[in-house]
Amino acid sequence: ELVIETQNLQKKYITDTVETTALAGVDLSIKRGEFVAIMGPSGCGKSTLLNILGMLDSPSSGVFKFLGQDISNATERQRAKLRKHNLGFVFQSFNLIDELTVEENIALPLAYLGVSKAETNKRVQEAMERMGIAHRRNHFPQQLSGGQQQRVAIARATVSNPALILADEPTGNLDSVHGREVMAMLAELNESGTTVVMVTHSPSDAEYAHRIVNLFDGQIVTENLNVKRHAAE
Ligand code: ADP
Ligand code: ADP
Repeated sequence: ELVIETQNLQKKYITDTVETTALAGVDLSIKRGEFVAIMGPSGCGKSTLLNILGMLDSPSSGVFKFLGQDISNATERQRAKLRKHNLGFVFQSFNLIDELTVEENIALPLAYLGVSKAETNKRVQEAMERMGIAHRRNHFPQQLSGGQQQRVAIARATVSNPALILADEPTGNLDSVHGREVMAMLAELNESGTTVVMVTHSPSDAEYAHRIVNLFDGQIVTENLNVKRHAAE
């Protein structure tokens, strides 16, 4: 079963008189349960691709199917609904809300979904325990280390049990010890069934993926299977 399928995906940005081709025909299929790393030099189109897969932006042309449904021409409203129900986002800069506690940050996606108070408490508790941050539930983001903040962000991204997690440089602001910790947690989530697509500059992060997709000038130039992860299965 395919979570993501793109055919000849293109994205052009037009500002004043300058036209930039950020994606020049991307064909990418991602199966349920896969962990895919997207790599490539700065400006090659990684953020653009992740934004389109995350339904934050739409392609200029081409086909984009999500869970078998063609959403190439979906309205903003339809995309927002699909995002809310099916996607979790993890960012380089954590993007937590400083005025809310750990627990309140993690509960946010469930509030948007209208989940009951009792069910919310149960799921937030489970998510905090999975990420090893339950003892920090009443702390505010600024009182936590970067590694802890990213674990809160991952708990928030997964609390609604989304089909797909999109991670943009999840270890970009972490030292190597905390980076490995965060990657181990993403790998664990993936092993329990969640599909993960991650943009990274870090070859050691990419080691956690099943497949590495290399972009250059808005196109996929090579795809490598990670022998280590595949042999383990
Ligand atoms: P990467 O994430 O690999 O660094 P991006 O997807 O951010 O690449 O950018 C791909 C190309 O598109 C670059 O040339 C970039 O300058 C351009 N680009 C990205 N976003 C915009 C935008 N909102 N408006 C105009 N150009 C953009
Ligand atoms: P990274 O390389 O870390 O992925 P970038 O610096 O390429 O990040 O882009 C950061 C944000 O700025 C992205 O959301 C991208 O869409 C936007 N962006 C990148 N290049 C341009 C540009 N030339 N004009 C406007 N926005 C841009």
